[in-house]
Amino acid sequence: MSEQRRDEVRPAQRRVVVVGAGMAGVQTAVALREQGFDGSVTLIGAEPHQPYDRPPLSKAVLLGKAEGSAFDVDFESLGIDLRLGSEALGVRPADHVLDTEAGPVPYDVLVLATGAEPIRLPGAEGVPGVHLLRTLDDAERLRPVLARQHDVVVVGAGWIGAEFATAARDAGCAVTVVEAADRPLAGALPAEVAAPMAGWYADSGAELRTHTRVERVEPGAVVLDDGSRLPAGAVVVGIGARPATAWLTGSGVELGAHGEVVADAHLRTSARDVYAVGDCASFPSARYAERLLVHHWDNALQGPRTVAANIIGEPTDEPLEAYDPVPYFWSEQFGRFVQYAGHHGAADRMVWRGDGSGPAWTVCWLREDRLMALLAVGRPRDLAQGRKLIEAGTPMNPRLLTDPARPLKNATA
Ligand code: FAD
Repeated sequence: MSEQRRDEVRPAQRRVVVVGAGMAGVQTAVALREQGFDGSVTLIGAEPHQPYDRPPLSKAVLLGKAEGSAFDVDFESLGIDLRLGSEALGVRPADHVLDTEAGPVPYDVLVLATGAEPIRLPGAEGVPGVHLLRTLDDAERLRPVLARQHDVVVVGAGWIGAEFATAARDAGCAVTVVEAADRPLAGALPAEVAAPMAGWYADSGAELRTHTRVERVEPGAVVLDDGSRLPAGAVVVGIGARPATAWLTGSGVELGAHGEVVADAHLRTSARDVYAVGDCASFPSARYAERLLVHHWDNALQGPRTVAANIIGEPTDEPLEAYDPVPYFWSEQFGRFVQYAGHHGAADRMVWRGDGSGPAWTVCWLREDRLMALLAVGRPRDLAQGRKLIEAGTPMNPRLLTDPARPLKNATA
């Protein structure tokens, strides 16, 4: 479509309001400007801090190796009206109004990017010494725990639990990780893959107690379901996160089974002129033939580009862009760089490249001869090549795949 035609159909000075000033919200505002949007952009965030990146919170920020992780974005020069310390309380789609603590904010297009919030341990709230790890404030509260080398009990051996345990061991804390399932990352990875990871805890000097539930938390101790009592100078709860969408209840914006905003393939919600992106939203993936709810950084980087393109394109008759990424995330734990790309199902066939007991190995998931996903430990080249092969749907040769010395891109059928 010509620029002239675009201008004819584009209403003058549309107002886009983005709620949530985390990665997805900031990237949406920035992408709008990068893609030439010239209407007003307002970015509203509940936290008082200059918008910041979360992955460093469980890594460098926690260890005091970095002061903070604020995004390097000049909001003023981009013409983004940044309103911090202001919580959105509800939305009235029929009126095109967002209600916030600071009063109603009218919009032409609204983008929901309120992310996720950590699941709390029942009964532990308000007990002194119990921590979560989601925000900059959480990380700052945890820094002295590490600096003073407290005995730490981590509840949950997921991604956050593993990264916190890593930092705490680096700082010289005694660390016990309590996990209700039979293995770490039980919700994300099959037993065969998690098995070598369980050994990483012991190698680092952390104690991992699986099949173990927390009965209650008391000041200075965690009482387990077998009656044993773990002394705890601090308790860090890492038992997952859920979309931060309670404020949308009753608004008419459809929420899914996990409390997430249900978006369509273009990242539009059930409410007119309302989009959703990042940790707070699920979307239908044609690539994986299922709805995905992704709680990882790359999704909060990629999704906003689609949202911005569709906001800019929508008043024209241009086809909207579908969002169908190959999901990607990384984790830094126990001295390993762990990367995962794609999405696998329980029925997909696993092919190992290398021995899980070694320092570097990769697991591939195949559906027929197509690569659906891979997990690479200390093999970033496998990850980079695998991601492209998944994207392209290239047929693979499973026999060649097993040879870790052969580049993944040379293991095609
Ligand atoms: P968020 O980052 O949660 O941002 C949402 C923002 O919206 C928050 O600031 C919140 O305060 C605000 N908000 C919520 N409700 C409202 C409201 N009603 N009104 C106004 N504002 C509101 N991913 C990886 O791939 N690799 C990693 O190594 C990795 N490490 C991580 C380490 C930590 C400690 C954490 C917490 C996450 C990590 N992640 C990692 C995940 C990644 O950071 C998230 O997927 C990403 O931050 C999601 O961005 P988001 O903008 O959707 O949500």
